[in-house]
Amino acid sequence: MRIVFLGPPGAGKGTQASRLAGELDVPHLSTGEMLRKEREQQTKVGLQVADYLDQGQLVPDELVLGIVADRITFKDCDGGYILDGFPRTLHQAEQFDQHLATCNTPLDLVVELVIEQGELLQRLMKRGRGDDNMATIQQRLVSYDKQTSPLTEYYSAQQVLHSVDASGTMDRVYAALMAAVDEVEKQN
Ligand code: AMP
Repeated sequence: MRIVFLGPPGAGKGTQASRLAGELDVPHLSTGEMLRKEREQQTKVGLQVADYLDQGQLVPDELVLGIVADRITFKDCDGGYILDGFPRTLHQAEQFDQHLATCNTPLDLVVELVIEQGELLQRLMKRGRGDDNMATIQQRLVSYDKQTSPLTEYYSAQQVLHSVDASGTMDRVYAALMAAVDEVEKQN
C-alpha cells in the first residue's frame, strides 16, 4: 500500500508512520530524516540543504522530488511505502502524482493528522530536536499552513484523503489509522 502522511510538525507523523510501516511491512520514508542524514554526511545534497534545514524553510521542490522518486525505485518499495513529510507543496504533490501515473502506481491513501496549534507547540518544545527552537518551530508551522495545508483539499478532491484526530493517546490515533487502512483495503 502506498501511503502519504500529512500533518503539521509535532502531530506525531513520524511515530505513527513508523509503527504503521512495521505492521504493513513497508519502508517508512521520512524526507526530513533523509535530508538530515545527507547534511550529517556532508554530501553534495547535504551542503545544498543545510541552510534551509537550519532556518526551518522548505528545501527546493525539485531537489526533494528527485530524492523521493529515486528512493521509491528501491526493491523494498515494491509492496508500497509510507511517505512522511512529503509532499509538502502543491507543486510537489502534482509532480509526484504525474510521476506515479507514468509508473501506474497511484497513491492508495493520504492520512491527515489533525491537531490544534496550542497542543502542537507544547509537543514541539518538549521534543527538543536540533531544529526545534522557538523560531524554527514557528517558521515550520507557518510553512505548513501556507504551503502544505492546501494539500488536504487537493487529495480530498481525489477521494484518497482520510483525516484522523491526532490529539488523543498514541494508541487511539493508531487505531483510527488502522481503521482508515482497513477501509482502503476493503475497497481494493
Ligand atoms: P521534518 O523532519 O519532516 O519536519 O523536516 C525537517 C526539514 O526538512 C523541514 O523543515 C524542511 O526544511 C526539510 N523538508 C523535509 N521534507 C521536505 C519536503 N517535502 N519539501 C521541502 N522541504 C522538506
